[in-house]
Amino acid sequence: MNKALVLEQEDKKTLAGVRELSMDELPEGDVLVNIDFSSLNFKDGLAVTGAGKIVHQFPMVPGIDLAGTVAESDNPDYKPGDPVVLTGWSVGERYWGGYAQQMRLQSKWLVPLAEGLTGRQAMIIGTAGLTSMLCVMRLQEGGLKPEDGPVVVTGATGGVGSIVVALLARNGYEVVAVSGKADSEDYLKQLGASEVRTRSEFEEKARPLDRALWAGAVDTVGGDILAKVLSQMKYDGRVATVGLAASHALNTTVMPFILRGVDLLGVDSVMIPYERRVQAWKRLAEELPEEILDQVTEEVSLEQVPEYAQNIIEGKVRGRVLVNPN
Ligand code: NDP
Repeated sequence: MNKALVLEQEDKKTLAGVRELSMDELPEGDVLVNIDFSSLNFKDGLAVTGAGKIVHQFPMVPGIDLAGTVAESDNPDYKPGDPVVLTGWSVGERYWGGYAQQMRLQSKWLVPLAEGLTGRQAMIIGTAGLTSMLCVMRLQEGGLKPEDGPVVVTGATGGVGSIVVALLARNGYEVVAVSGKADSEDYLKQLGASEVRTRSEFEEKARPLDRALWAGAVDTVGGDILAKVLSQMKYDGRVATVGLAASHALNTTVMPFILRGVDLLGVDSVMIPYERRVQAWKRLAEELPEEILDQVTEEVSLEQVPEYAQNIIEGKVRGRVLVNPN
């Protein structure tokens, strides 16, 4: 039995339904993986609801993340029983992904499960958490140190935001979390934020340069909020731009860059090379305490994914949604 969530398109509308897949339907690939867990990311929300042009062809099994064990392999680097993780590489967009009990895949997309993590924990982390670590790595490689001053995180209760808050705090940074959710203060402080600010403060139109407040920033939302954050960066500030939950637009000026030497650092998780993935997963295994992972998680079935997909694109989800296909 191989149960999967399958997307079809009818009259330009995306329809999502759970059904059985036969072995003949599975795509080509050199490994077959028994999937234990997947997860729900913002991009999965766009794909499953059809709200964003994410899916390249139908039918599609979405799910940009998966963790499981190898069932069959033509690649000598992987043997049956090996625990593996997959994120990115356009899986769940161009290629069939993780919302199934079993999937045939390209072994070059896999990484071995990092030592110290279970598959379940790896999927609580998922693309969102991997991306959070990539943001921290970009800021640190850019020279940001805890003593430089506070780091602001926007969209802080989201999947990326929650884990960024926890990782930055764990690395000794003072974290100021920005959230649109009224009741988020306790949650964000438990994750390690020292202060929580409301999103509306950041939605006012930005001046070219505002009061310099932040040594670092991780922005998951884009649009006017990112413009505001840029205008508030301290001299030599480092900003990691990673998301577009509010907007893909960015209306700003050159002032923060030419007068304060601010760096805007792009973060991508889809196409990053194997070695950097392994490095990021190793750090995640070392730096994210188990209780933080439990604190940020809600677990759902394949049947519940469409409802949660709608919630995530409406900004209603807090933390990470773990998908259990079994
Ligand atoms: P989530 O939906 O879990 O988090 C997004 C958060 O942004 C929400 O929880 C909310 O936080 C805030 N938000 C939502 N809508 C708005 C809005 N209209 N205006 C302002 N803030 C809003 O998504 P993820 O954490 O999974 O992803 C966050 C972003 O990062 C997405 O745009 C996603 O596409 C992108 N991303 C990019 C990756 C890359 O490789 N570059 C990889 C992974 C994700 P709050 O209520 O606390 O304000």
